[in-house]
Amino acid sequence: MKYRMFWVTTVLLMMFGWNWMLEGGDAWRGWSQEPWVDGDGMEIAIRSSAEDQLAVVGTTGDSLTAAEKPAEKPAEKPAEKPAEKPAEKPMPAAPVRWFKGNLHTHSLWSDGNDFPEMIADWYREQGYQFLALSDHNILSEGQKWMSLKTIEARNGKTALGKYLSRMGSEWVETRGSREKENLEIRLKTLAEIRKKFEQTGQFLMFPSEEITDKGVHINATNIGRLIRPQGGANVQETIRNNLRAVAAQAKELNRTILPHLNHPNLGNSGISAENLAALVEDRFVEIHNGVEGDGDLGSAQRHGLESLWDIASTLRISRFDAPPLFGLATDDSHHYHGGRKASPGRGWICVRASELNTQSILDAIQEGQFYASTGIELVSVEFDPEKQLLEIEIKPQGDAVFTTSFLGTMVDFDDSSSPRIDRKTGKEIPTTRDYSEDIGKVFSTVEGLKASYRLTGKELYVRAMIQSNQKPENPTSESVFRQAWTQPVGWKKHLTEKKSP
Ligand SMILES: [Zn+2]
Ligand SMILES: [Zn+2]
Repeated sequence: MKYRMFWVTTVLLMMFGWNWMLEGGDAWRGWSQEPWVDGDGMEIAIRSSAEDQLAVVGTTGDSLTAAEKPAEKPAEKPAEKPAEKPAEKPMPAAPVRWFKGNLHTHSLWSDGNDFPEMIADWYREQGYQFLALSDHNILSEGQKWMSLKTIEARNGKTALGKYLSRMGSEWVETRGSREKENLEIRLKTLAEIRKKFEQTGQFLMFPSEEITDKGVHINATNIGRLIRPQGGANVQETIRNNLRAVAAQAKELNRTILPHLNHPNLGNSGISAENLAALVEDRFVEIHNGVEGDGDLGSAQRHGLESLWDIASTLRISRFDAPPLFGLATDDSHHYHGGRKASPGRGWICVRASELNTQSILDAIQEGQFYASTGIELVSVEFDPEKQLLEIEIKPQGDAVFTTSFLGTMVDFDDSSSPRIDRKTGKEIPTTRDYSEDIGKVFSTVEGLKASYRLTGKELYVRAMIQSNQKPENPTSESVFRQAWTQPVGWKKHLTEKKSP
């Protein structure tokens, strides 16, 4: 079979280097320094996680009240206490729940325009159960004072007033004075914020950094120490070098650190599906990012992120004998005082786990036990590997009508491709190539709160995309309707080794 032949190719590539392979179609063109953006849980029980990690049955659909919630282990402390990796992953103890969280958020520690604890407070009050403050190339540690002038210049004229009113003057630390126009406010550290906001079983925070390396941005969730951008001669090498740095730290500190590639279409980063396919060490990519204008839906120059996801996943399974990518929705929020460019609450993930603690959430994400959403809540996502049946149940939202599309790529897909050509110049655009419609093909659509798809056995993978006929409360210009995306299933049998995510 052709993808087994590609495994041989893959080994050769690993021996001789990946970069030559992309010469031509995706060769390094350089990138400009991308400006930083200016600007309820449901009770379910695991039946089996033997294949593809998605086998969930038994749902109530109702939120648990705090009193009903199962006892939770205390949330882990940050950096100084490395999380232990279990030697093998046991079956999660039932019942498991969905936990909602956002892994991509900015504060005044880098280029956001609010105090980190105000942001934590907002997410907690909105019903999120976990949050990563992921500032650019900095961890919220040590002393950092921020001038009021700088804060106000970021459309933050109301920031200090709201901060004082919410947290109280005893909490807020300042020096200098307004009169002398040298007033500064100390930014609280993550350790201080966790102490104040984390609640066992209710709200969890992760240390995180958005490693920002020119056009390549990679979030490292649960990072233990700052990682400086590693650089590289081209996009692919830059991504690889940074992922390696994350993996090295994870090994050194014996903790799970979860890297995910951010907004592949933002700026001039030139991250293509072919890059994403060849970078088999990456497992996660944003398929929705809340920043307006970051190209989620693509353009004449670029494929949209869903298309990128399907092409990369298809190539990974068929050519590289590697698992598909898992897709995340995030806010990448920067702006908290009005203005819509990068406001919070637009994209998140819901993770199925037995407990709300660092290790439990990260393990579940690594196993693909989550879905991404811009406003749809799922009661259950079940993949039964024996029956080869993928089943979705959606939580009702008023009179919203939901359409579930089951899509993926068949084993015998047409893998021909051609470069995308600039219509004006007639020249090839250094971007993802155009592929046949066999990739990311819709196999069936189902309307209603329940939808299922039985695999024929010839799918490389299948995933579900659910769309509502209603708009999100705070849509980006790129999310017209509420959506949810489940992770690819049915792919493991196509890999020569049973590779764990
Ligand atoms: Zn970014
Ligand atoms: Zn960001």
